[in-house]
Amino acid sequence: SQLISQIAAGEVIERPASVVKELVENSVDAGADRVEVRIEGGGLQRILVSDNGCGIPKDELSLALKRHATSKVKSLEELEHVVTLGFRGEALASIESVADLRIQSRTPEANQAWQIHEGAVEPAPGMEPGTRIEVKDLFYKTPARRKFMKSESTENAHVVTQLERIALANPSVSLTLFTNGRQTMRLERGASHAARIADLMPKDFRGASREVDAQSGKWRLTGLIGLPTISRTRTEAQYFFVNGRFIRDRVMAHAVRAAYEDVLHGQAQPMYCLFLELPPDEVDANVHPTKTEVRFRESGRVHQFVTQAVKAVIAPPLS
Ligand code: ADP
Ligand code: MG
Repeated sequence: SQLISQIAAGEVIERPASVVKELVENSVDAGADRVEVRIEGGGLQRILVSDNGCGIPKDELSLALKRHATSKVKSLEELEHVVTLGFRGEALASIESVADLRIQSRTPEANQAWQIHEGAVEPAPGMEPGTRIEVKDLFYKTPARRKFMKSESTENAHVVTQLERIALANPSVSLTLFTNGRQTMRLERGASHAARIADLMPKDFRGASREVDAQSGKWRLTGLIGLPTISRTRTEAQYFFVNGRFIRDRVMAHAVRAAYEDVLHGQAQPMYCLFLELPPDEVDANVHPTKTEVRFRESGRVHQFVTQAVKAVIAPPLS
């Protein structure tokens, strides 16, 4: 029912930035290498995300809006090996229950684009292959939620935060943001994480960071860590990704912090951008609808691996 959808939507779609995150992650999953985001009125008035990804075939447009319908996992067994950012099939359904949603899409094979709006599928002429999703009047159906929104500039800042996380993990995707019609962010597609990190991390990070590249069996940790000299008094620029997904995990934050134990005291916080890759069946991202939490099968060993890898770089053992 509509009510159940709205309640479930509350868990995925907290604010405009959640919509942007879900839509851009879908673009990345669709193999797009160019994504453009437009927001108006902090994203409450309008959000538009266009990509040049694989598109949605006409006869799958209405399916894409069904709760728990995903084209990304076909069986429970596959769920163990999921490599896409999405897999729960609830983002579009959730967005539609709290906003006016229009999807326009064209697959490379199709000779034209199709759109779905309020259940009706119609031609959408004049579109290149890819997908364009427009979300208007967010939370107009749920005024209580709308009341919790902060100022436009705060909502804009949340959007930027979400885009930066996705951008760091996907350097081969070019990303542009327009805020009320004005271009406010432009990240060119690059070959390496290093270039993106240089674009997005604080300025002093560039000269005072070291590369991490550690391996243990099928686990690999790469990225950059800031030297203790550029640590901050509060948490800032701490990015930890697991299999391409930004996560907020106390165990992982602690694992990195532990490596600095002897050099950072009190409130001092390191800056870092780290990417952990491990076989998908060793980590469960299906802990929370927003997928920013994960559970590791061997949490203790992962913690140890990360600490040692970081420690070896900032405080190399005397030989
Ligand atoms: P999930 O990402 O978990 O599969 P969503 O609700 O986010 O669920 O999207 C539902 C489905 O719609 C996806 O599985 C995908 O098939 C399709 N889809 C959504 N956005 C795009 C896009 N930008 N390009 C191609 N297909 C898309
Ligand atoms: Mg999705």
